[in-house]
Amino acid sequence: MRYVVGVDVGGTNLVAGVLAEDGSEIHGVVSEPTLAASGADAVTARIVKLAKASIAESGKKVEGVGIGSPGPLNTKTGVVLLTPNLGWTNMPLRDRVSEGLGLPATLDNDANCAIFGEWWRGAARGAKYVIGFTLGTGIGGGIVIDGEIYHGVTDVAGEFGHVTIDANGRRCKCGNYGCIEAYASGPAIAERATEGIVSGVDTSLGQYVQGDLSKLTAQIVYEAALLGAAIASFVNIFNPEIVVICGGVTQAGDKLFQPLRTEVKRRAFKPAWEACKIVPGTLPGTAGVYGAAAVFIQKQWGLR
Ligand SMILES: [Zn+2]
Repeated sequence: MRYVVGVDVGGTNLVAGVLAEDGSEIHGVVSEPTLAASGADAVTARIVKLAKASIAESGKKVEGVGIGSPGPLNTKTGVVLLTPNLGWTNMPLRDRVSEGLGLPATLDNDANCAIFGEWWRGAARGAKYVIGFTLGTGIGGGIVIDGEIYHGVTDVAGEFGHVTIDANGRRCKCGNYGCIEAYASGPAIAERATEGIVSGVDTSLGQYVQGDLSKLTAQIVYEAALLGAAIASFVNIFNPEIVVICGGVTQAGDKLFQPLRTEVKRRAFKPAWEACKIVPGTLPGTAGVYGAAAVFIQKQWGLR
């Protein structure tokens, strides 16, 4: 069995883990804050250090590294072009991490990786037409068709968080106005609901929700209606068999999914919503790590 280290570079946290090439094992999952404000050099050094820690803890001989990063980015050159949430411009992340670890590397979009991970070994396993959302620091999206991430011509495809829901709306970090991300990202909700719980990982919201759901219910219903409207559009466009939703807020369970499904049903074409399951991801915290590793494995060895 060959092994790959997957690294998920989030706006809030870095997560790394060592995957077997068939996805049957994950070892040495470690995480630490991204500290994006410390700058690209410092964050790159932390990524390398974290990947090394993961490899050491796994006890496995690792043959490559798959990186998932916020974009837009170029999967061929391995350069992150621009990340509003991290403040990077034209950052050659793939090669810098590759050099730091002395391992071949691949780079793909973080949300693409999360949805690819859910297709590979999670909630959308084996499905032919998959779209998905990640609700975290921002709202990401991914499209997996026939076991391949759909990238579009310049790797921008699947930026579902930047669909305009209000043409004259609030300014988004991407430069557009009225993107759904400017209204319904996980931290935005958490910030509104209570003070000071955003400092931890994505799951801090979920843990909080488990602790006291009532405080968040109104926000979750609000998010479900907004998301439902967006998802209905994507269900009409892609006619997927499954929509996977990842992120801590999904721990709200039916409080989120029931109104969300109702909203999709209200808006989308019947043959589309009838054929489509809308489900939470089943790899909480590690979907991006699975997917980042899977991108490397698919590119270098072929995916089983
Ligand atoms: Zn935007």
